[in-house]
Amino acid sequence: MQDIILFGMQGSGKGTQARILAEKFAYKIFETGGQLRKLASEDSPLGQKVKEITTAGKLVPNEIVMEIVENFLQNLPENETAIFDGIPRSESQRASLEAEFAKVGRRPLAVYISLTREEALTRLLGRKTCAGCGKIFGAKDNSAAFEKCPVCGGELKIRADDTAEAIETRLDVYEKETVPAIEKYREENRLVEIDGTQSVAEVTAAIAAKLAN
Ligand SMILES: [Zn+2]
Repeated sequence: MQDIILFGMQGSGKGTQARILAEKFAYKIFETGGQLRKLASEDSPLGQKVKEITTAGKLVPNEIVMEIVENFLQNLPENETAIFDGIPRSESQRASLEAEFAKVGRRPLAVYISLTREEALTRLLGRKTCAGCGKIFGAKDNSAAFEKCPVCGGELKIRADDTAEAIETRLDVYEKETVPAIEKYREENRLVEIDGTQSVAEVTAAIAAKLAN
């Protein structure tokens, strides 16, 4: 199996697919936010530095993110593979990420779960989160029309950062910053594009079929 760099606009179900694929094929997941939180809880000099930066609400500089990637890759046994979720976010970050992969002799496959901007907007605008168990209900999910969570009975709320304006801004950033990195992988014939309008199970199956090749 090959390492995977998973791309997808917000609303594409990228995080869900990362979890399903990890479970199905025993991938490790590299998710920047999670790695930063883990590091910040450690008593190492780098951990303390990350803690300072994130506590201040500042963006962690790319050099530190790359240090974390390097550390992760060096501790990843040769016979194991990983999914990178939410990284790279830009073409320059893609270049530094590729340099880290090259150091350890790995060449990941880029998987892009594509969605039109309109579809992403529709999905994100209808999204509700349970205040009780944290489960997210999508616009196409009948449950999203409920006021109470069908799982735990908690209150269903639209997230504060899911206003149309905030969503548009996040999609703009994605198109401007992240799409050039995706296009670079397409140029290098290392990109697999999957139709993200399919069901979760269909998307998983489509990705799995590409991995088997
Ligand atoms: Zn709930």
